[in-house]
Amino acid sequence: MPKARETVLEIDLDALAHNYNYLRSKLHEDVMFMAVVKANGYGSEVVDIARKLVDLGADYFAVAYASEGIALRKAGIETPILVLHPQSVNFEAIIENCLEPSLYSKFVVEEFIKIAEGLKQKNYPVHLKFNTGLNRLGFSEKETALVRDLLQGTEAVKAKSFFSHLAASEDWREREFTLMQIHTLRKLAIKLYDELGYRPLLHICNTSGINNYPKAHFDMVRSGIGLYGFGNDKTEDQKLKPIGTLKTIISQIHHLEKGQSLGYNRAFIAEKPTKTATLPIGHADGINRQYGNGHAGVIVNGKYAPIIGNVCMDMIMINITGIECEEGDEVIIFGGPQHATEFASKGKTISYELITGIAPRVKREII
Ligand code: PLP
Repeated sequence: MPKARETVLEIDLDALAHNYNYLRSKLHEDVMFMAVVKANGYGSEVVDIARKLVDLGADYFAVAYASEGIALRKAGIETPILVLHPQSVNFEAIIENCLEPSLYSKFVVEEFIKIAEGLKQKNYPVHLKFNTGLNRLGFSEKETALVRDLLQGTEAVKAKSFFSHLAASEDWREREFTLMQIHTLRKLAIKLYDELGYRPLLHICNTSGINNYPKAHFDMVRSGIGLYGFGNDKTEDQKLKPIGTLKTIISQIHHLEKGQSLGYNRAFIAEKPTKTATLPIGHADGINRQYGNGHAGVIVNGKYAPIIGNVCMDMIMINITGIECEEGDEVIIFGGPQHATEFASKGKTISYELITGIAPRVKREII
């Protein structure tokens, strides 16, 4: 058994390439690929991820905040970057770093135009976001005239795209709702093309949208979770490769006698002699308390070992009774034999939250 040296999140860039190529193969060659790399590349070490995606041919990146885009620019990434949720305090920095904001309300458009005019910009690329049913961010369908007037009232900015975000593209029971969202975006875009006299790019599909709504790929798709190896359904999961494996080591082994307790609040009491291992990973690393008390487990030398007792800030304890292992042995939290989606569901969450929640103090190792 290999000896891991500390807790690491291994990132497999070949798996990333596999996922990118697989998702790309679903698109017409004219459709652009926007790689969503917010939240540190879904927790994966964004600069390495972005560099690999540039090599693979990604056309665009999307991040949530300006700071994430600036970090990519500082790392030398020159690909266009959409900032999905910019705040007005960052508008100058957005322009200085050639980032492209999503503009989703009258206030935000007016604020951005003010800054762009102040910096003597002409036709600065912006992306107009429409709310078609997620009810999170975006202009409503009724506000298309307002959007037109705002765009026509300045030369400082020019719409590079119109877009929206799907609420339930992974869920077949919500097919009608999703089709309504797609139809709404298409309808309002056609109206705006006519009125503006030019045709910005159109995009709505996330990863599940790519898989389930091929007619809605439009000019560009925005894929996040699929790149990292998760498909939101079993068939797609089998075709994608999770890029992350979270590993740690056994710090110490204990032998509890019947009746002895383990950890905080004495939440585990040994009903019989029990061999336990303590691992250097806890809720401050992204393994929250839901995983404790037998709800989830980890893999030790190929065997499943339940997490017992309460999850601590920097440690978890596992039951290794009957498992041959020693201090210093490697333990897999998720990845390889334990799919992250399965692990996440035992912690009552989803792959998105699990992988983006792995704390910065966990070392990322690119393999
Ligand atoms: N587009 C927007 C606006 C998003 O917020 C996200 C992710 O949250 C994505 C695209 C990518 O979605 P997915 O990770 O499901 O592919």
